[in-house]
Amino acid sequence: VNTDQVGVAVPLPRLALCPECQSEVKIRADRRLPKHERQYGLDDSICCDRDGYVITRCPGSERVAGEPLEPTFARWLWMQSKRRDDDINVLTRFAAFQFRGCTRSPRLTARDMEWTTAEELHGRIHLIQLARAGTVDMNPPMGRRHDWMCDYLQQAAETYQRLRAAGDERPSGKG
Ligand SMILES: [Zn+2]
Ligand SMILES: [Zn+2]
Repeated sequence: VNTDQVGVAVPLPRLALCPECQSEVKIRADRRLPKHERQYGLDDSICCDRDGYVITRCPGSERVAGEPLEPTFARWLWMQSKRRDDDINVLTRFAAFQFRGCTRSPRLTARDMEWTTAEELHGRIHLIQLARAGTVDMNPPMGRRHDWMCDYLQQAAETYQRLRAAGDERPSGKG
């Protein structure tokens, strides 16, 4: 019996692309972009104010948001990774494993990922294993193709599909 619990799942995110910094940010209830910091990449020129302090507030903050972005599996899992209940929630634990990385690296977002869907992520997990261990089997001594990571992914994929199905039942669609 698996004692891990699938905990609270975040709702499908309503994200928009900030036209200034190209980051994906959560749309506020008033349909504007939230106050957010500009993320500087290695090749970006740094903006400073007249006193030489780095300007961190993105000028796109509080602008009217554009079209909401498709709430893909990657974007949903990214929002899930922001929860702090990974000690009791396998969804958050799995999400954190994909997005938080090590503490020294910059925070990853859905845009940094080479996968969008759960199937693509599953393929990637096995490719990483192939690079690391020379086989796509996650547990070669036991002859097992899949392991706990795949199980967590499966649970996350099922949760996401339930959320999408519930979202599609809204009356706005086909009458
Ligand atoms: Zn921005
Ligand atoms: Zn697998």
